[in-house]
Amino acid sequence: MSKVYLIGAGPGAADLLTLRAARLLAEQAEIVLADDLVSADVLAMVRPGARVLKVGKRGGRASTPQDFIHRLMVRYARRGKCVVRLKGGDPFVFGRGGEEIDALAHAGIEADVVPGLTAGIGVPAAAGIPVTHRLHTHGVTLVSGTAGEGCEEPNWQALAHTGTTLVIYMGLGRLLNIVARLIAAGMPPDTPAAAIASGTLPGQRQVKGSLAELPARVSAEGLASPAIVVVGQVAALAKEMDCGAWQPALRSLAA
Ligand code: SAH
Repeated sequence: MSKVYLIGAGPGAADLLTLRAARLLAEQAEIVLADDLVSADVLAMVRPGARVLKVGKRGGRASTPQDFIHRLMVRYARRGKCVVRLKGGDPFVFGRGGEEIDALAHAGIEADVVPGLTAGIGVPAAAGIPVTHRLHTHGVTLVSGTAGEGCEEPNWQALAHTGTTLVIYMGLGRLLNIVARLIAAGMPPDTPAAAIASGTLPGQRQVKGSLAELPARVSAEGLASPAIVVVGQVAALAKEMDCGAWQPALRSLAA
């Protein structure tokens, strides 16, 4: 019986993968169970001959039941295959990595975790936002904007008063509702905020504005999931929209 590697694929760009992840994918993986968020460039690094199974879960689309993923990992590990469970970002940040480790332990299968760069840190950075900054905030809170099945809604009332940067995952579809709750809880409507979609990928797009105006800006610009929402003083440091896209173009024109 072989072990299962839970690997974080980072936020999207293949060169943001850790060296350990890249080596395991290129040299050892035999079965790769990949999430939807794992980019095509990362999948291209998998050993030729390895079998890649897409076991995505994406809000609003048909998704693979979690139990089925557990069964696949156990089945292939028992057959002696080197199994990689490949997840966007970090496996333990809104990635159900904890549940998968439990399922493997329950089946008596050894697991190794390879951390990845989580979208909540890497995506704001790609947009020019430092999630902490000595002059603006003393911390950062990572929170899910969507309550999982059978889970409670985050406590927006309390989150409005942490004084830390709020980094919201899976929040774009409910942005209007989240913003209304934060403002109703006393967060100033002019708090800087930003949304960044497809961060670190060629299609990265971002908008920034006040908390109150962010939902309208997001719809006006047609930003779509996956996206990270940042609320707090540091969001004002975001680069202007599509900087990533037009700056290289301008540089090549100037050359
Ligand atoms: N385990 C992942 C998070 C999975 S939850 C991690 O650590 O990053 C999925 C959410 O992550 C998406 O809804 C979105 O909010 C965020 N996300 C993942 N990749 C992203 C990207 N390239 N750009 C913007 N947001 C991203």
